[in-house]
Amino acid sequence: MHAIASISQSALKHNLSVVKKNAPNARIVSMVKANAYGHHIDLIDPIINHSDLLGVSEILEVEKLRKTTNQPILLLSGVIKDQELQQAIKLNCQIVIHHKTQLSIINNTKQSIDIWIKINTGMNRLGLSTNEYKYCIKLLENNPLINIQCVMSHFACADEINHPMNQSQLFEFKKSTHATVKRSIANSAAILSNSASHFDYVRPGIMLYGVSPFDIINHNLKPVMQLSAPIISIKIIKTGDSVGYSATWTANKPTTVATIGIGYGDGYPRHAKNGTPVLINNTLCPLIGRVSMDLICVDISNINASVGDNAILWGNQQLRIETIAKCSATIAYELLAGVSSRVTFINAI
Ligand SMILES: *Cc1c(COP(=O)(O)O)cnc(C)c1O
Repeated sequence: MHAIASISQSALKHNLSVVKKNAPNARIVSMVKANAYGHHIDLIDPIINHSDLLGVSEILEVEKLRKTTNQPILLLSGVIKDQELQQAIKLNCQIVIHHKTQLSIINNTKQSIDIWIKINTGMNRLGLSTNEYKYCIKLLENNPLINIQCVMSHFACADEINHPMNQSQLFEFKKSTHATVKRSIANSAAILSNSASHFDYVRPGIMLYGVSPFDIINHNLKPVMQLSAPIISIKIIKTGDSVGYSATWTANKPTTVATIGIGYGDGYPRHAKNGTPVLINNTLCPLIGRVSMDLICVDISNINASVGDNAILWGNQQLRIETIAKCSATIAYELLAGVSSRVTFINAI
């Protein structure tokens, strides 16, 4: 009796079809970094098998992914040592160049490689400047072992549709690149909001997992991970009694309290506030008191429930993870990536 994350294969398929519907002319780099946003690489076959490329952050992730698929893989962080280049070649992945120190390592390759070049258009995290990019192209295009696949950049504020940086980054991107190279800048938010940003490759992440990149829930996307855990105790407390660590919640009337076998040790956010909804027997019930490592408490005074009944923490049309993220002052990305190894993952229809 413990927490279960069930991963819906039909929801994955559906969400990928939403990407294709929104960007019909672009190829798809599905982002599966951080163990597929916490969904587990080995439980997302519809994405693995029906994308043009799979995007990961680190070489260890490439290694893991190669055990399950021969699909093309894009390594976003690229390589900073020759030894890593050798490993990347052996694993047959495409490599992103985002910093000038990577140029000489790449340019000295003895075997042919596919590369992507990342340019900085205003996020100022990774990416070559315009001048470095020009130099990079000049240097590498004469090397017959190097195949430049695509030029990419990344939006800083795509989740805020009207943020002025979206237009300025797009302008900068178009100005620095030209139509003779393949181009890619769109993440989920840009895929859904701005077709002028789609270019040759789009890079969906969060939307594949059924989560809206915007503040508003998008009901065209279907939640992929459903997190649930059983009620392991029920007790009735009286007016004035408190619940949980630091006694942060006190009953103002006799209250039926269900204790559920999940906590921050499983990845349920410790900062979820009093009143955060938990779905039990089709009714939303409020969280009461602090989230502990293994347990949470919920006010079930208004419903019928028994020990052993299942509580859904997120991932249901009635209870989206976006709501839980808001109640705990974080984003759904962090919640998904933070589901711990104590949780049992299962493949669901
Ligand atoms: C993670 C990532 C994405 C996907 O972003 P979402 O907001 O999850 O769609 C796209 N591009 C890069 C470079 C990324 O690191």
